[in-house]
Amino acid sequence: MSLVVKKFGGTSVGSVERIKNVAKRVKEAVDKGEKVVVVSSAMSGETDRLLSLAYEISNRPDPREVDQVVSTGEQVAIGLLSIALQEIGVPAVSFTGWQVPIETDSVHTKARITHIKKERILEEIEKGKVVIVAGFQGINPKGDITTLGRGGSDTTAVALAAALNANVCEIYTDVPGVFTADPRIVEDARKIPVISYEEMMEMASLGSKVMQIRSVEFAAKYGVKIHVRSSFSYEDGTW
Ligand code: ASP
Ligand code: MG
Repeated sequence: MSLVVKKFGGTSVGSVERIKNVAKRVKEAVDKGEKVVVVSSAMSGETDRLLSLAYEISNRPDPREVDQVVSTGEQVAIGLLSIALQEIGVPAVSFTGWQVPIETDSVHTKARITHIKKERILEEIEKGKVVIVAGFQGINPKGDITTLGRGGSDTTAVALAAALNANVCEIYTDVPGVFTADPRIVEDARKIPVISYEEMMEMASLGSKVMQIRSVEFAAKYGVKIHVRSSFSYEDGTW
């Protein structure tokens, strides 16, 4: 049976309606017999909102405390998504980074994942549950919450796919794939059907926001297969 990691970005979970939509999509995969691990970002705009609260109080907020604040965005999203799945009859359980745990170094606001303890996730999958993991966060050796840098949920998803030996890591976003330019801005942007890790890293370093650059480095290192898809349109017969 195949194991799939599905990562949903902020716009995909940007409202209660959209969260319900994601739950429906996840149910379709479960009904097909897939084992699913979901990684979610915070609802769109939430991380910016939380950051601005910290910077309203201080010009130089303590990075440890910034992580304490910004990591909450993903916690809300995973809890809501789990409720949405349970509501349509899909057994689900959500975990924050520290609950997994996703272990990181201690570089607050730009931490690197060092190790993922996968036992708890595997246990829940075995029980037939969809496991929903908070993107963008982990825990350092001291037991403090860390975050992985802006866009870090991609890295959470790829690292989990590598750790769990998933068949594929699907990145659901607001554009249906990787394009030669931002299709929301450039009219004749073309979709690139297949792209190498190297080319993807180059695009990310040139400012493409499709995936966090660290996540692509991670995918290259561990050979994780990535599909970039839209969470809004049926574009390739799947969704
Ligand atoms: N919520 C975080 C951000 O806005 C992480 C992510 O979305 O990947 O950067
Ligand atoms: Mg992103």
